[in-house]
Amino acid sequence: MSPTHDTGRVVAVTGGAAGIGEAAVLHLARGGDTVVALDRNADALERLVQAGAAEGLRVESEAVDVSDDEQMAAVAERIAGRHGGADVLVCAAGVQRYGTVDQTSKELYDEVMDVNVRGVFAACREFVPLLRRRGGGAIVVVASVQAFAVQSGVAAYAASKGALVALVKAMAVDHAAEGIRVNTVCPGSVDTPMLRWAAERFADDGRSPDQLVADWGRSHPIGRVATSAEVAQAIAYLAGPEAGFVTGTELRVDGGLTAALSVAL
Ligand code: NAD
Repeated sequence: MSPTHDTGRVVAVTGGAAGIGEAAVLHLARGGDTVVALDRNADALERLVQAGAAEGLRVESEAVDVSDDEQMAAVAERIAGRHGGADVLVCAAGVQRYGTVDQTSKELYDEVMDVNVRGVFAACREFVPLLRRRGGGAIVVVASVQAFAVQSGVAAYAASKGALVALVKAMAVDHAAEGIRVNTVCPGSVDTPMLRWAAERFADDGRSPDQLVADWGRSHPIGRVATSAEVAQAIAYLAGPEAGFVTGTELRVDGGLTAALSVAL
């Protein structure tokens, strides 16, 4: 689908090569934005740029490890050089790792925090000045319902997502007067490579990965897991002018998961 018009917006999406980030790249580019996908997976980025070009979309890419502050600064500088600034930053890069607090090694803790928190912090540090140059804009951070209600055995991941919810509030307050809005999208389970990786890991003799994903879906009141496109639509809303008075808050895209009280009747 070719974009219907050119919004003139420049959007950067971390984690843009797969899953929720990729869906956000395509959704926003189809709406007329110029979108720069940032990811550490250079091959997947190349495939995405080619797929975008085949549709007539304005999709660019930058290979970067978001947990590396210097790489992130260099990428922001290149985007500023090409476009003079940016209008929207979407932070979707993240990793999921498992373990209770006493099962989480220092290395595992560092990996989760470096990507999920430091990576978002670094991207925002570099892009706030780029948004400021264009007179304001929006930042959308993909956190998780696990910031509010957790399954067992995700101590570091839950801590990282809770930190993002607080960071977003801090940035929203600090930058509201400059016309920069900052919000989180907090998904429940979403059918992405990350979820499929988890399903492979937890599938056992009794249940296949597909059955496990279906069971996870049934734990959401809506009865299924989300598509990455559904999360991308929520991201697009928060990034756009329809959300002009929305800042410092969380949009839960969780099929009712955190609204439900599990009581046997
Ligand atoms: P995914 O693994 O399918 O895709 C993540 C993308 O981020 C990949 O392209 C990967 O290469 C990239 N990435 C990872 N670490 C990176 C790094 N250090 N530097 C640059 N790129 C990096 O994941 P997803 O399911 O699309 O998740 C996206 C975000 O949504 C994550 O922050 C995740 O925690 C969050 N989330 C996912 C779910 C879910 O059920 N899938 C639920 C709630 C929240």
